[in-house]
Amino acid sequence: MPSIIVVGSGVAGMTAALEAVGSYDVTLLTKATLAQSNTRYAQGGVAVVIDNMKDPGAPKLGDTVESHVANTLVAGAGLSDKDTVGILCAEGPAAMDELIERGVKFDRHDGELSHGLEAAHDYPRILHAGGDATGAGIAYALIDRVRESDISVRTQTTVVDLLIEDDRCVGVMLLGGEELRADHVILATGGAGQLFPYSTNPAIATADGLGMALRAGVVAADLEFYQFHPTSLDAPGNFLVSEAVRGEGATLIDADGNRFMFDVHPDGELAPRDVVARGIAMQMAKQPGKPVRLDATALGAEFLAKRFPNIDAACRAQGFDWGEVPIPVTPAAHYYMGGIRTDEWGRTSLSGLYAVGEAACNGLHGANRLASNSLLEGAVYGTRVIEGLKDPQPVVAFDDEWPAPITVDLLDDPEADDVNRTDLQRLMWDAAGLARNGPDLEAAIAELKRCKAPTVNDAKSAEDANLLVVARAVVTSALARKESRGGHYRTDFPETDPAQARHSSVVSHA
Ligand SMILES: Cc1cc2nc3c(=O)[nH]c(=O)nc-3n(C[C@H](O)[C@H](O)[C@H](O)COP(=O)(O)OP(=O)(O)OC[C@H]3O[C@@H](n4cnc5c(N)ncnc54)[C@H](O)[C@@H]3O)c2cc1C
Repeated sequence: MPSIIVVGSGVAGMTAALEAVGSYDVTLLTKATLAQSNTRYAQGGVAVVIDNMKDPGAPKLGDTVESHVANTLVAGAGLSDKDTVGILCAEGPAAMDELIERGVKFDRHDGELSHGLEAAHDYPRILHAGGDATGAGIAYALIDRVRESDISVRTQTTVVDLLIEDDRCVGVMLLGGEELRADHVILATGGAGQLFPYSTNPAIATADGLGMALRAGVVAADLEFYQFHPTSLDAPGNFLVSEAVRGEGATLIDADGNRFMFDVHPDGELAPRDVVARGIAMQMAKQPGKPVRLDATALGAEFLAKRFPNIDAACRAQGFDWGEVPIPVTPAAHYYMGGIRTDEWGRTSLSGLYAVGEAACNGLHGANRLASNSLLEGAVYGTRVIEGLKDPQPVVAFDDEWPAPITVDLLDDPEADDVNRTDLQRLMWDAAGLARNGPDLEAAIAELKRCKAPTVNDAKSAEDANLLVVARAVVTSALARKESRGGHYRTDFPETDPAQARHSSVVSHA
């Protein structure tokens, strides 16, 4: 039987592993427990055209694949790849039926699947589980299936590099030096939130797959596009404070207790997500060391506890009584649109290497992700990547839509100090966070050249090495895109330029 190594145990990796087992000898590697992933922390739900599901409880809402596609393309700000979006939306219903088959218990009302409406979706097409604990519902069901399957699982196992022979990926190198070989390697290593000091992502989100791929010369794409959520609790863990809290009337106030969002946008706190996120970041820069606060006190403790039980619990766990006192909030890195460049089968520019989920970039999210499309991406493309193994051609890397690559210099100065993660995160927040400009990005490139990747001798040093590689690639990509679009905002080029409506391809030079 041919063999596969899957790296990562989020929705994308576990779906791929379950799809493959029986036809392939599957090894699933993950650097923490099976449940430690962005997937486990996802809250709101999964977007899908419920009308097209086979589940007997699937209601008929009049929703269509065309509508889901249209909403996704609008969010992507002119950069989404139409083919990969079409596949996501058309194959989503079958992927959700499969998740239900695998034991995911989406919420139901009288047997019918419950379905929520989210901003920028034309239909109430958001399936959820456990109220706002959708990610946990998916993760634990898939973990049960993985545990009872023939998949060989190795937890607490950090992959540090790809093994490449004759221009082909033939396996992975583990922390400690062990080499594992397989016919195919699938990277499902998730996002990169730990590039920034504030992130909704858990500690595992250190861009490992992308870092390894860049070091190996594999093509990456759209690395300048990062989605920031406007309000997370400014406390360890950066728990997400839903937009619905502002929707209920909570206000944002500066260090002197004044509302500031109306100076930024006529809709104040209810302006579009990226505008509010930038407004908060700019206010934070004006009052260094003093937090921006979300004032929900007018809503009353009783209402808050009932309407937002999970946020209420998170606030209380951090010692905040948000019914009585405004809480400190900050924008936080939330989702990475960029990643390892793949086609619609998860194939990368390197034979034998595949990527899927948040680690990958097949262009479907374009410059900005539509809410609730990423769990769906893991389920749909986690299935497709196994189909893609039947025709293992490397992706054609460059064409009109994916033009000639930006080259990132990864060469380290051996005399430089090892990178310090806290300093790197602060630099990235200031220069490549919500608002960027040419001089700051150039200074950041120079600053990142003044440090070097540490010798990899433990999990943290392996992560730091990846964060440094990816940080260099992000700032270089952000400098190259001289316009504002989706998750990439340049104060020196604030307009969107139709002539730049194409993806960016990135390769390393080391
Ligand atoms: C707070 C929060 C709320 C969200 N809410 C939603 C939502 O409502 N709807 C939605 O669609 N999306 C949501 N998202 C986004 C979504 O959760 C992620 O995009 C998605 O789960 C990514 O899945 P994945 O399988 O690609 O990666 P992940 O779930 O992040 O899994 C990555 C895996 O790779 C492993 N790994 C990483 N590096 C290595 C290495 N070097 N060696 C071995 N293993 C490694 C990790 O340990 C982990 O198991 C949310 C995200 C967060 C953080």
